[in-house]
Amino acid sequence: MSYETVIGLEVHVELGTRTKIFCGCEVAFGAAPNSRVCPVCLGSPGVLPVLNEQALALGIRAALALNCQVRRSSKFDRKNYFYPDSPKAYQISQYDEPIGEHGHIDIVVDGQTRRIGITRVHLEEDAGKLTHSPFGDTSSVDLNRVGVPLIEIVSEPDIRTPEEARLYLEELKAIMQYCEVSECKMEEGSLRCDANISLRPVGASALGTKTEIKNMNSFRNVLRGLEYEQQRQADLLRSGEVIVQQTLRFDDATAKTIVMRSKEDAHDYRYFPDPDLPRIELSESYIAQRLAEIPELPANIRARFEQDYGLPAYDAGVLTASKALSMFFDQTARLVKDPKAASNWIMGDLLAYLKEDGKEIEGLTMQPKQLAGLIGLIDDGTISTKIAKTVLRDMVSSGRDAPTIIAEQGLVQISDEGELRAIAQRVIAANPKSVADYMAGKEKAIGSLVGQVMKETKGKANPQVVNRLMAELLSSK
Ligand SMILES: [Zn+2]
Repeated sequence: MSYETVIGLEVHVELGTRTKIFCGCEVAFGAAPNSRVCPVCLGSPGVLPVLNEQALALGIRAALALNCQVRRSSKFDRKNYFYPDSPKAYQISQYDEPIGEHGHIDIVVDGQTRRIGITRVHLEEDAGKLTHSPFGDTSSVDLNRVGVPLIEIVSEPDIRTPEEARLYLEELKAIMQYCEVSECKMEEGSLRCDANISLRPVGASALGTKTEIKNMNSFRNVLRGLEYEQQRQADLLRSGEVIVQQTLRFDDATAKTIVMRSKEDAHDYRYFPDPDLPRIELSESYIAQRLAEIPELPANIRARFEQDYGLPAYDAGVLTASKALSMFFDQTARLVKDPKAASNWIMGDLLAYLKEDGKEIEGLTMQPKQLAGLIGLIDDGTISTKIAKTVLRDMVSSGRDAPTIIAEQGLVQISDEGELRAIAQRVIAANPKSVADYMAGKEKAIGSLVGQVMKETKGKANPQVVNRLMAELLSSK
């Protein structure tokens, strides 16, 4: 029997606010443990939470960017559980009235657009962070993260392969970053992903028993965890065994899933409306303002790059990996004759030089018009492509203009025929073996003669002119 995989993702995204969701404590990743806490987030008796308006605004912006319908009226609920990461013994979340519902993200799988539904987007507070001693006798808790604002984004079970899950996450992350809702740093936990996965016979409509995989802390591990679990379930089903509903943890070292606990149902949390927080009532104008804050999103930009600049889909994908990169390309492309040339320079040499320097595009001092200027100098024959690579290397490090570097280092291309002819004649005289080979019909021998001219001019000779002159000189022999 063959099986179909059904995957749904629950993604937690930390909202990029300065302070926590219900108190004034600063949000600071990496701060000294328990240094960003107050009576409100520590749950002392008698304190009252106050909603951070910026967290609400970012949550609504995110829901709109994910094509959700935003509820005009929603509320906060208490999710009760007893665990040391939560000093109040409950988490403030949203149960039956989330801020957003019925959204979607489109992903492109093998050239086909697939729409992945989003069930809901809700606001909640984060919990503390537990660290367990490797010797097994103690655990420590850092409550700095308690009360950090999150949105939880729950997808419909529309994802069919681990690869689709990865594509969905990539797109979700890009949308959040473009909208400046979150930096989505998985390594710092500001984007976290849990996955539900089940298998069912192909053609069946009922869902199989699912397992939930927690704590997959990189896109690679999401892919590995889901692939492992898909195989494990298929093996069990094929040997006639049943899948047990449970919560699993992906172990990076062994690349296997490990059982954490049997799955709890929603009623175990005894949800009830939080009596300390008023309902969230949104006006039409408030929602319209949030909608106006959403910039052009990556899917739109990719389509525009392909249509307006004639870029291949691959280039459009690479260049929209971040908002800063797509803006850099967009501005450069407007200033050059051939946008594909700009794409090649950015995707190839520029990204490589940034990587060498350990820099991000955001930290680049070189401006798009400076790169466009460099490309213009290649177009008009002032410098060769080879020299341009050297010049760009300098531009990325120093932020100086191409003409300044070219003048200082005497890198202007030599296209003067008289000068190049003299060098070519010297090279011919000094390399009788190559000349004889060429005369004997080995046409490739001309390459080594041209190479000698390029070497003598330190790469500054115009290769087209040298090729033509060399062919002329040899044929007149
Ligand atoms: Zn606090």
